[in-house]
Amino acid sequence: MAVVDRDPLIELRGVNKHYGTLHVLRDIHLTVGRGEVVVVIGPSGSGKSTLCRAVNRLEAVESGDILIDGQPLPSEGKALARLRAEVGMVFQSFNLFAHKTVLANVSLAQTKVRRRRREEADRRSRELLDRVGLAAHADKFPAQLSGGQQQRVAIARALAMDPKALLFDEPTSALDPEMINEVLEVMRQLAEEGMTMVVVTHEMGFARSAAHRVVFMADGRIVEDRTPEDFFTAPRSERAKDFLSKIL
Ligand code: ADP
Ligand code: MG
Repeated sequence: MAVVDRDPLIELRGVNKHYGTLHVLRDIHLTVGRGEVVVVIGPSGSGKSTLCRAVNRLEAVESGDILIDGQPLPSEGKALARLRAEVGMVFQSFNLFAHKTVLANVSLAQTKVRRRRREEADRRSRELLDRVGLAAHADKFPAQLSGGQQQRVAIARALAMDPKALLFDEPTSALDPEMINEVLEVMRQLAEEGMTMVVVTHEMGFARSAAHRVVFMADGRIVEDRTPEDFFTAPRSERAKDFLSKIL
């Protein structure tokens, strides 16, 4: 993939965080350009989820700067809520409201956070459900859908905020194997449309085919930050070699 000069959308500069005595993010420097897809991989416990959560301040950090589109992360209040709406997050567990229909799940934050009228929100929700292949399921409840379908609803819900970027934390890890591809396909399509994405995943096929960069983390550090071609064909660090030998 050609290297493009991108204007930075997410920037972490010297970010540190501890949980008690555990130094979980160690001097993290990471820039994600507009339209860039960065896949984050690494062993369990290396700090990948904490990194994602730090980016939209679900976790506070102790030092360093985090900027979204050039703006420092606000620490609280309305500014923080606005920021969270700009950086959508998709989790391993889909976190849908069980007692609301699929349509209502996608519309809810639009009316509450974006202050859209209900009809407008529903119209947008239907467009997005169509985009993730679920137009026919708008009036069902989450439990009537498969895991893969529920995760696609969660993606539609994140997109409904018109985010500048999306963070995915192991979006397919809770899914049965036959449902993984339908979710990755939606993500691949978003990547092609130019969505800025940070994706924590163990799906190396997705990393190879959709990522502009692979960031490898171990023990709270970014150990490698390279193109997928370089990373997969010639990992430099022992940690990455060891990790790849176990999963490939
Ligand atoms: P990953 O997503 O790469 O598996 P995490 O970011 O979830 O890693 O966790 C990194 C480390 O921080 C792990 O050792 C984990 O046990 C620890 N950790 C995560 N969340 C908490 C928490 N809320 N309190 C204490 N330790 C935590
Ligand atoms: Mg994790």
